[in-house]
Amino acid sequence: MQPREILPAGFRRCCKCKKIKSLAAFRARKQRGKDGKLSKCINCCKVWYSENAEDILLYEKRWRQDHPQASSRHNKRYRQKHPEKIRAYTKRRYAENIGGFRERLKRWTQENPEKFRENCRAQARKRRARKIGVNENFSAAEGTFVRSFNGNRCMICGGNKKAKGRKVLPIDHWLPLSKGHALTMSNAVLLCIECNGPGVKGNRYPADVFDTATIKRIEKEMREQVKAWELLKQKKA
Ligand SMILES: [Zn+2]
Ligand SMILES: [Zn+2]
Repeated sequence: MQPREILPAGFRRCCKCKKIKSLAAFRARKQRGKDGKLSKCINCCKVWYSENAEDILLYEKRWRQDHPQASSRHNKRYRQKHPEKIRAYTKRRYAENIGGFRERLKRWTQENPEKFRENCRAQARKRRARKIGVNENFSAAEGTFVRSFNGNRCMICGGNKKAKGRKVLPIDHWLPLSKGHALTMSNAVLLCIECNGPGVKGNRYPADVFDTATIKRIEKEMREQVKAWELLKQKKA
């Protein structure tokens, strides 16, 4: 066995091309080598990948088939880590209409009209918030949850009187958006038109409109709402 070569800190020799390179030229891999890096430099890895592209693709396909759960966990992590890549990819797929992307979307919309409307509502909420400089990230799924958690009823009066032309009660801000409060699970209420219409609560703080007992009751319900949502998220994860 050759004596171990002593290199200055932050450098190592690639086992393939035999060149000395800085650690930045090596990909990180858990449980590999003392410094947690692969023994081949990035360049050599790329060459190896391109020379064996077909086999690697086949191997990865098999691996996905044999490990469906690990595979979907991996996909989920990747999506969370690289949202911009996913967006670009989706955009490209859409533009090229690979696999009838548009047709499938259309079919999905027809088969899931309620989900589609919820998505539209979520996007409209985000747009409205962005317009006044508030960054909101309240999803369609969260909207659906708030509705069903409160039985599609107004949290104040228990009624479900909607604005003209509306099919569902809107998800409202408990602390007003106009004062910079974003919609989150702990600020989302379901209110009917009689309790949150123009001239009722509107853009005002709850304390300016409702009595203390009502506020206490609603805020308690909202805490339960947050708890239930967290539980649901844990179950899904
Ligand atoms: Zn190399
Ligand atoms: Zn009401």
